[in-house]
Amino acid sequence: MLRLEEVSLPEPGPGQVRVRVLAAAMNHLDLWVRKGIPGVRFPLPLTLGSDGAGVVDAVGPGVRFARPGDEVMLSPGVSCGVCAHCVAGRDNLCPEYGLLGEHRDGTDAEFVVVPEANLLPKPPGLSFEDAAAFPLVFLTAWNMLVTHARVRPGEDVLVWGAGSGVGSAAIQIAKAHHARVIAVAGDDRKLHRALELGADEGINYRTQDVLEEVRRLTHRRGVDVVFEHVGATTWEVSLRALARGGRLVTCGATSGPLAQTNLRYVFGRALSIHGTWVGGKGEMHELLPLLRAGILRPVVDRVFALTQVREAHAYLESGQHFGKVILVP
Ligand SMILES: [Zn+2]
Repeated sequence: MLRLEEVSLPEPGPGQVRVRVLAAAMNHLDLWVRKGIPGVRFPLPLTLGSDGAGVVDAVGPGVRFARPGDEVMLSPGVSCGVCAHCVAGRDNLCPEYGLLGEHRDGTDAEFVVVPEANLLPKPPGLSFEDAAAFPLVFLTAWNMLVTHARVRPGEDVLVWGAGSGVGSAAIQIAKAHHARVIAVAGDDRKLHRALELGADEGINYRTQDVLEEVRRLTHRRGVDVVFEHVGATTWEVSLRALARGGRLVTCGATSGPLAQTNLRYVFGRALSIHGTWVGGKGEMHELLPLLRAGILRPVVDRVFALTQVREAHAYLESGQHFGKVILVP
């Protein structure tokens, strides 16, 4: 159950920083956490929100670099900081890895307390709304396309859910790597926006046969990379759309997690399937220069006041958005 209430001001502990949140971005994950995930126990009550940007308000003992007044974005993941994965910058693989708004209080609040390592410098020219819209989806899409799929210039990349936050990030990251992007969405308005973002081709899955279109656009070869996060309803087409040696990367299953896999496609065409979960802080630092240079641009669809959080959840759930839905305290 979603409720807006007054809580006491959180105090930063050792190595922690309190940030006054000026914008928080919603993710589909917020809807899953709100509804509950079978087999997953969340620490309740829990403040939602994995993405945020704001100003450092107070620092705890032992904080080394952050100072009150610093303008920051927040890295969404928190981990142990000392295991082999953490020290390699792959903290998303740490056994203790959790997200703001999932394993601890998140950004849908006036203040949030995070470890100092979660602060990222906000580029001066970027609004707080745009800054909040950046971290989780761009990190996830980068982890999928660059770290796992190793997308190369000239390759064909099929992006499902082009209007989603992660889809709009994937289009830009694939284009920044000089791939050809085939965007899929459920209405022509979203496809138009996807083309404006740099997608080369668009397929409307409601009015067109996605597999037929992929075959036509690739001269029956198939695509090199499929960017998956829809799951049950798209999985089979995703596998069949891949060229020999193709890579399928997936970060989610908004339509459901159970799907059939025809193993003949997997071995017969030497396909790779990569499961991914967010991304590491090391990758976040690869992304920041592209944000600063304006090569990657957060896409904000609509801004709600935090007091309208219920309307914002309903809006995100309705799937009308193109890009990110923002909450402003
Ligand atoms: Zn660790």
